Amino acid sequence: MGRRSQSEKKKEALVEDVTSGNVEQTGWNIDPCRRLKDSEIQEVVEFTRILDNHRMLAVGDEREWSSNPQGTFSISSCYNWLMHDQGRIAAIKFPSDYIWNKTIPPNISFLVWAAAIRAVLTLSMLSRRGIVIENILCPFCNSSEESVEHLFLHCSFVGQIWEHVLQQLSIVWVHPTTVLEFVWKWKLKISIKPLVFLRYCVPFAIWWIVWLERNDILIAKKQLRKPMSTLVLDIKSLLFSWSINVVSFRNIKFGDFVFDWASLFRE
Ligand SMILES: [Zn+2]
Repeated sequence: MGRRSQSEKKKEALVEDVTSGNVEQTGWNIDPCRRLKDSEIQEVVEFTRILDNHRMLAVGDEREWSSNPQGTFSISSCYNWLMHDQGRIAAIKFPSDYIWNKTIPPNISFLVWAAAIRAVLTLSMLSRRGIVIENILCPFCNSSEESVEHLFLHCSFVGQIWEHVLQQLSIVWVHPTTVLEFVWKWKLKISIKPLVFLRYCVPFAIWWIVWLERNDILIAKKQLRKPMSTLVLDIKSLLFSWSINVVSFRNIKFGDFVFDWASLFRE
């Protein structure tokens, strides 16, 4: 019979104490870090009810690294966990090479990097950090909370921009859940081939223009919002500005680039 681990011994000792009445049981204290929305109150009530059925023991709490039989963290056990991960899908390698590229201006790469690590200060993020905001709905569709995933991937309004651009670039694509998954799956090698170059750059251009427009609406309080067609024009203009240093785009005029995109870059 194998040796029992430290954590197993501790658990057995605890069960013994509880059954003998040596350990006092206590309740849960739910203390949300921000004000709850009306729609969330019922969920919290339900959550509290579930927790009430699982009494917490009034004993010291401690962290335990489950990938080591001793329960303690070590670099070698972490390495083994990362490399093998018990047959599950390996952790996503952060797509730094795709995000940080000299073709893309650093401020735009920074936005995409922040989106990938979910650090963009959307209304949802500000609310989670305890800032009281009356309305945290997306300024484009006004129907869902403005999270980075919603704003950049799943918003119905921004989705129309995606649909238009993807169709012109002959790309069949379904957005994954998060921006990190997106860039991980999308990542392409930069190329001077016009179509590959545009496909590489398109997410950066769309997210930057959407972010600027979002800031104009929410921060500058702009009343007159740009229609989708104008935002698409802005995206194409931005892409043109990045393409002027690429040899294969040298003979393409701005008007053709912007208004004749679909036929110009057909496969
Ligand atoms: Zn939206």
